[in-house]
Amino acid sequence: MSVRGLNFLALAEERANGTHNFVWLHWLLMRFDLITIFPEFFTGPLDHGILRRARETGLVEVHVQDLRVFTKDRHRTVDDRPFGGGEGMVLKPEPLFEAVEALLGRGVGDATQQTACDPKTAIVLMSAAGELFTQETARRYAQLDRVFLLCGRYEGVDERVAEHLATEEISIGDFVLSGGELPAALILDAVARLLPGALGNEASSQNESFSKMSPRGLGGAAAGGASPAPTRTGGSGLWANDEAAANNHLLLDYPHYTRPADYRGWVVPEVLIGGNHAEVAKWRRSAALEKTRRKRPDLLLP
Ligand code: SAH
Repeated sequence: MSVRGLNFLALAEERANGTHNFVWLHWLLMRFDLITIFPEFFTGPLDHGILRRARETGLVEVHVQDLRVFTKDRHRTVDDRPFGGGEGMVLKPEPLFEAVEALLGRGVGDATQQTACDPKTAIVLMSAAGELFTQETARRYAQLDRVFLLCGRYEGVDERVAEHLATEEISIGDFVLSGGELPAALILDAVARLLPGALGNEASSQNESFSKMSPRGLGGAAAGGASPAPTRTGGSGLWANDEAAANNHLLLDYPHYTRPADYRGWVVPEVLIGGNHAEVAKWRRSAALEKTRRKRPDLLLP
């Protein structure tokens, strides 16, 4: 079910400011369903900054679901001992299947017949053994109507959840945490800030780390020019092969500086103070490439 429509709320807010800025006309409403045994965990992360504003302006709706509501015994048991023995406890499948089905408003089927998931909905299991979450994953989720984030605990989650309920199993990095709540909050943040209108300044999610650097995005000064390789390319200040690297790979953000221009003798690059926008754009482009080479050479591999 698609729940997105025009966000008149945000539009009205801009009108009230007297700006009539139609950039704010965007699609409402992306919904997140966080399923957890610790619902109160999310009180802090949801209530600050961009995420808070995105919720208040109706860009994103976040529903936090206590998994224990979907237990049937009087102890509200969500976990059980692992078959085959061994340490720890495992989250049982029934409460997770039933929570998702109740929130979806339909069943997902069983071993004889499984019901396909709406392509605009993702059911994501937080798992150290999942596929790595990247900025690309965040961009993909930002196109969806609805994302479920299932938070594991203890030794993990009964594998049938990964196989027959989740549409994907996602890890936030090669380390093991004690629960899926932090990963879920992290994903929510990374996705919500990509929704059109969430950042206030649309340009700010275009030229940031893990984006391809668009020459025009750097302060409006067009980089890249008429000079042929192997000389430096006309507008960018980069060598031709650097130009290709900058165009074809995801780069880290360029370094940012603010006042004071001289702090304990560490001075800000002079070009940034000169006020020449084209020169600033050139510098930023090559600084982003240099920093990517130094810190994350893996991003520049073919
Ligand atoms: N036995 C598991 C770890 C379980 S940790 C293993 O060795 O892989 C308990 C829960 O924390 C997991 O079910 C998962 O939901 C969450 N979790 C831990 N590390 C994570 C990571 N890197 N990314 C996403 N979720 C993680």
